[in-house]
Amino acid sequence: MYRIVASITSLQQHLDSLANNPVIYRPRVCPHCSFGQLWCHGCYERKADRTGSASDSLNPIPIPRFLCQGCHQTCSRLPECIAPRRWYSWSLQQIIILALLAECSLLRCSRQCGLDRHTIRRWWSELKEHHHAFALSLRMRFPELGRSVDFTDFWQNCLQMMSLSEAMTWLDREGIIVP
Ligand SMILES: [Zn+2]
Repeated sequence: MYRIVASITSLQQHLDSLANNPVIYRPRVCPHCSFGQLWCHGCYERKADRTGSASDSLNPIPIPRFLCQGCHQTCSRLPECIAPRRWYSWSLQQIIILALLAECSLLRCSRQCGLDRHTIRRWWSELKEHHHAFALSLRMRFPELGRSVDFTDFWQNCLQMMSLSEAMTWLDREGIIVP
């Protein structure tokens, strides 16, 4: 499902876009029935700011919702900087993935980033699990990635060409469900 709005790479940019140009979030068609008329239907909130202290936190972050005039179901769109199904930002996940690709141990990553080892292990195994589908789709869009010889080589090259959030936004656009 086309859930991610590309090129909104920070929470502040998202808040500014919502205030000044909210129309960029509106899907062209309903993801449930493909009907072309969606109305703004308020926002829900996510605690997506994991960086600031409580006093200067941007939370809660509003996420715009839309109501389909055909099937009456709602859908929402996320800025590129927020991962659909994960609590932590893509940028933090990218740091961890690059460290693991460089053969840093789970334990060391966990200590250095202050993240639970099980969380890191889950990200890593999910990337491996979805690698085939992700790589196939990204290679079609970016043929230069076709030269990568294996999992490690592929993701090192990919994350040198683009950020993890950009890669996931491309996959989302291709209809692939991203973590
Ligand atoms: Zn619909």
